[in-house]
Amino acid sequence: MSALLTAPYETRRILDKYGIHAKKKYGQNFLIDAGIVEGIIRSAAITKQDCVLEIGPGIGTMTQVLSLEAGHVVAVEIDEGLRPVLAETLDACTNVTVLFQDILKTDIAAISRNYNQGRKLKCVANLPYYITTPILLQLLRENSCFDSITVMVQKEVAQRILATCRDAEYGALSLAVQYYARPEVAMAVPPSSFIPRPGVDSAVLNLNAFEAPPVEADADYLFAIVRAAFNQRRKTLANALSHGLSYQGYSPDRDAVVRALREMDLPADIRGERLSLEDFARLTHILHA
Ligand code: SAM
Repeated sequence: MSALLTAPYETRRILDKYGIHAKKKYGQNFLIDAGIVEGIIRSAAITKQDCVLEIGPGIGTMTQVLSLEAGHVVAVEIDEGLRPVLAETLDACTNVTVLFQDILKTDIAAISRNYNQGRKLKCVANLPYYITTPILLQLLRENSCFDSITVMVQKEVAQRILATCRDAEYGALSLAVQYYARPEVAMAVPPSSFIPRPGVDSAVLNLNAFEAPPVEADADYLFAIVRAAFNQRRKTLANALSHGLSYQGYSPDRDAVVRALREMDLPADIRGERLSLEDFARLTHILHA
């Protein structure tokens, strides 16, 4: 195998050799910290039995180590400009398949069928920060394809994901993730672990997917309510829902929301940010009835 890219001088050599400048539009920050790469792979508990989906291999830093630890690695990279680089850095990694495509347009079930006989994958990624939320939602919606999901995100996004209705960071993302999975911080990661250095701290999260959601509710309606509540989070929930839900094809009027809140022993002027996932599920039930 070519020299490991976790040695910072090797990353610099490869970037110089191919005249690569990290592309902001693709959220490129390349890892150069062996301890962090090993920590991510350890927390994902990768073994030779696993087929790993890596999102955004970049120049192949984590992919090289995944190749040593996993049975097979399927790495999905949007940036075609990295093709010659990955051809060199992964030249000896015969168990790695690189697909140059947009992860958001990737059929994850097809990857499991084509590369792992339909068995579950493990997802490992240092996510591009500009599309963290859509990728997370895609992974969670398709969580039946995964044994585990381990992702690096901005620390601030990790705080939003972990927040509860007692925290300022609580919002639609917290609820979306917590509906599908139990999030856990595996590791904090400083800017010095990357080239170029991002302006923010990062964190590695394990998303432990539930077999079944922790609450029972019509998921489409539940998330329509959550979106409406947090799109206008300064408004009372009754006002936010009576305006926000009609755009999404649902139409409870303000009085119906107030009646539902009363039935739940909640004040009529409460804001969405005070409701837990269980409260939102109950509200969904009542309004749906
Ligand atoms: N894994 C590498 C590392 O840790 O050094 C690079 C991580 S970098 C933060 C994010 C990577 O995701 C980049 O390689 C970027 O080109 C890629 N990327 C960005 N948008 C993508 C998309 N929609 N689909 C697939 N890959 C994408």
